[in-house]
Amino acid sequence: MADRPGEVRRGAVAELPPPAWRARLRRALRAWYARSARDLPWRRAATPYRVWVAEVMLQQTQAATAAPYYERFLARFPTVAALAAAAEDDVLAAWQGLGYYARARKLKEAAAIIVAEHGGRFPDDEATARALPGVGPYTAGAVLSIAYDRPAAAVDANVARVLVRLLGEERPLATAAVKARLWQVAAALVPRRAPGAWTQTLIEFGALVCLPRSPDCPSCPVASLCVARAAGRAAQIPAPRRKKPPPVVEVAVAWAADREGRLTCVRRPDRGVLAGFYELPAVDVPAGEDPRVLLGEALRALGARRVSVGEALARIEHGMFHRTARLTAYRVRATWDAADSVTAILPEAAAARPLTTASQKLIRAIGSKGRR
Ligand code: SF4
Repeated sequence: MADRPGEVRRGAVAELPPPAWRARLRRALRAWYARSARDLPWRRAATPYRVWVAEVMLQQTQAATAAPYYERFLARFPTVAALAAAAEDDVLAAWQGLGYYARARKLKEAAAIIVAEHGGRFPDDEATARALPGVGPYTAGAVLSIAYDRPAAAVDANVARVLVRLLGEERPLATAAVKARLWQVAAALVPRRAPGAWTQTLIEFGALVCLPRSPDCPSCPVASLCVARAAGRAAQIPAPRRKKPPPVVEVAVAWAADREGRLTCVRRPDRGVLAGFYELPAVDVPAGEDPRVLLGEALRALGARRVSVGEALARIEHGMFHRTARLTAYRVRATWDAADSVTAILPEAAAARPLTTASQKLIRAIGSKGRR
């Protein structure tokens, strides 16, 4: 009997592992999940809204990190209607620290559509769910299976990693043929009984055993079914993506505190990276340029008058997905014309506003030495 996924049946559906292999895999992983699943907050009451928020949060954040944010977010926005009615600034502030803020913005946008067009309930069919902002095939599959117990597959980066190892798939994960194969295999694996629990099983297995860098093959419950393990290739599959390191840029930042200790902040544009967030005024400094001169010019362009840029107060490095910034904060004295985008924030009130992480780091680094 075919017992390895490498022994494939070829036909209309490409390279499906044999039914006996799939059955053994499901049995072994379900038994493992029954004894190993973590008690995570989104598993306690798997309503469509709770599962949806969790899946969006978990897209770029590990479960242990996301759990306290999740509980705070749900306490603040307990229903789709509460999220739809919230101010965007409040949603971004509740998301603060999780990064990738477009997720939060789309979540709120989708909540408004769910309230207006779907009776306040996350849609229970894939096409309608996928028409919502921020809902791709993975999120739709996860919510449909976990919250509605529909037989839908859900392949995120963790599940993809597990599958390519089990299958011994050596081609890069990013290729269209591999992606299509993984979705087909994942769909064939979905059981008729309790598909939602199966989705959680695969995700949990990728998070606890079949880890990205060091899969725990010696204690793996499906090691005997794994092609990568049999070939001694578990550590090499999937092939690592070669990423160019992000560019490093110097940034001059204005630390402009008034007598009450309030800091001048500016609101970023409504589109682009960190849209709508507040931050300390800043300017990129190309090589060979004088940071104080550039910062003064940037502040005058924002409506500052009688600008004087003084000593450097702190220097930090802040990595983002598109660049690494080396930020130097300078003490600034200036007066301001009223401008919509300029506001004053007390450092201790910063958590109530959507303030960029780089600005928060500088506020912490400078502390009391920034007082006038
Ligand atoms: Fe992952 Fe190793 Fe188990 Fe294969 S044997 S599924 S590589 S943990």
